[in-house]
Amino acid sequence: MLCLTLTGNDYGLCREQVRQNRKNIEMVEFRADLMKVIDTDAVRQLIGDLDLPVILTCRRLKDGGAFEGSERSRIQLLSRLIPLGFSLVDIEEDVKRPELPLLAKEHGLKIIRSFHDMESVPRDLFSRIMKMSRKGDIAKAAVTPRSIADVLMLFKAEKELESIDKIIIGMGTYGIPTRILYKRTGSMLTFCSAEGSSAASGHLSADIMHDLYRSDQVSPATRIYGIIGNPVMHTSSPKIHNPAFEKVGLNAVYVPFLVDDVRSFFHLADYLDIQGFSVTVPHKQHVLPYLGKISREVKLIGSCNTVLKYNTMWKGVNTDFYGFLKPIGEELEAQRIRRAVVIGAGGAARSVVWALRNYYCRVTILNRTVEKAKSLAQETGSAYGSLEDLAALETADLIVQTTSAGMPPQEGVNPIEAYAFRGEEIVYDLVYKPRQTEIIKKASRAGCRIIYGMDMLIAQGILQFESFTGFTYPED
Ligand code: NAP
Repeated sequence: MLCLTLTGNDYGLCREQVRQNRKNIEMVEFRADLMKVIDTDAVRQLIGDLDLPVILTCRRLKDGGAFEGSERSRIQLLSRLIPLGFSLVDIEEDVKRPELPLLAKEHGLKIIRSFHDMESVPRDLFSRIMKMSRKGDIAKAAVTPRSIADVLMLFKAEKELESIDKIIIGMGTYGIPTRILYKRTGSMLTFCSAEGSSAASGHLSADIMHDLYRSDQVSPATRIYGIIGNPVMHTSSPKIHNPAFEKVGLNAVYVPFLVDDVRSFFHLADYLDIQGFSVTVPHKQHVLPYLGKISREVKLIGSCNTVLKYNTMWKGVNTDFYGFLKPIGEELEAQRIRRAVVIGAGGAARSVVWALRNYYCRVTILNRTVEKAKSLAQETGSAYGSLEDLAALETADLIVQTTSAGMPPQEGVNPIEAYAFRGEEIVYDLVYKPRQTEIIKKASRAGCRIIYGMDMLIAQGILQFESFTGFTYPED
C-alpha cells in the first residue's frame, strides 16, 4: 500500500492533497503535529469524508515531527483524536502510557508501534522490531542508513523478520530504494507525499511512486535494475527505463541507488538478485574489479557504464561509447568529420576520444589540467593542449564539450570562452541539464549545428535498455 502523509496544515489543503493523489494511494496518514489548529469536529468530518483508512500520528520534534508541546499535552491530544474515526494510530515505542493503546483498541484502531533513528541504523534493529511486535502491534522502524551496507541490512528484514507485520523505512537519499522496493523489505506499506511537499527526508511523491516506479506492483518475480552513483538523484535514467518496461509488458523496475562503496553494492545486488545496472560518476572505474567479463570498448576505455548479469557473473559494457556515436554516426561514416576537438579529459572524454579514434578521426584534447590531456592523448594517439590553445578549434569539424562546466554548480561556465565559433563546426555538449548551456547558446548564435547531451543520454539509455532486457526500445 502507498500511504499519503498529509502535509497540508489546514483541513482544506489536506482534502485537496487526497483529491489530487486519490488514484495513487490506498491509505492516508493524518499528521496532527503539522496542523495549525486542531478542531475535533473538523478532524471527525475530514476522516469521515475520506473513503480510505487513516493513520493518526502526532510526531515529536526528536523523531522528525513538528509537535512542540509537552509529552503530556501530546498524549492528551492523541487521546482526544483516537475516537474520531481513525483506522490506525502510531504510538512510539518508548511511550509508556497503557491507557493509550487501551483506548485505541476500545475504538477499534490497530496500533503501529514505531521508533525513529534520525542518525543511523541501530545495530539492534531486528531485536527492537521483534520486541515491538510481541504485543501484536504493527512494528515500524524509520531509520537513517549512512551507507549502502546499511541499506542491505534493511532489505534483510524481509527474511529475518518474515512473520512480523512491519513497516521498514530508510530515510534520506540512501534509503530511497527501501521506499520504492518497500515490498522487498517485507513492509506492508510505505509513505509518500503530495507533489511539492515532503513530510520526511527521502519521501517521494505519490505519483512518482505509483506512475514511475509502480512500487505497489513489485513482487518477488519483479526483475530489479538500477543505477549506482554518488550523487545519483539527479539522474533521468529511471524515466528512460521504467516507462519502457511498462510499455513492453515486463515486470521490472529501475531504481536509483546512492552508493558509497561498490563492493557493498555488489553484495546488495546479489541479495536482491539485481539483473543489471547503470553506473555513473564516480563508479565507472570502481566496478571494474568485480566484472567477470568485459566488452571490447570497456577494455579500451577502462570505464564501464553498464553492468549486466551474465550467467553467474557480471559483465561490463559501455553504452556511452555507442550512445555518443549515435547522433553523428552518418557524418562519421561519410567521413565528413575528420578533425575533432574534445574539451575535457575526464571519464566521459575517454569514451568520446576512443569512439572518435575508432573512426580514424584526428583528435585534439584540450583540458584545464594539461597533464591529463597529455596522458589521454598518448594513450589514444591524439594531440593535446590547454584550454587556451584555440588554434585546433579553428580547423575542427566537430567540437565536443565533455567537461562538467555548464552543469550545476557550474551553470553558465563556458570552458572555451575566448573562442569565436565559425558556424561551420558541429558542436556537441555532453552536459544535458541544463539543455541550453553557455557554449550551446554561443554556438547556436554563430549558426553551428548543435547536438545536445540529452540526445546522447537517451541513445545510451536505449542501448542499455536493450542489453538489459533483449527487447527493442519502444518507439513511441
Ligand atoms: P569527470 O571525470 O569528473 O571529468 C570532469 C572534466 O571536467 C575534467 O576534464 C575537468 O578538468 C573538467 N572541468 C570541470 N570543471 C571545469 C571548469 N570549470 N573548466 C574547465 N574544465 C572543467 O566527469 P565526467 O564523468 O567526464 O563527466 C563530465 C560531464 O559529462 C558531466 O557533466 C556529465 O554529466 C556529462 N556526461 C554526459 C553523458 C551523456 O549521456 N550526455 C554521459 C557521460 C557524462 P580537470 O581535469 O582540469 O579537473
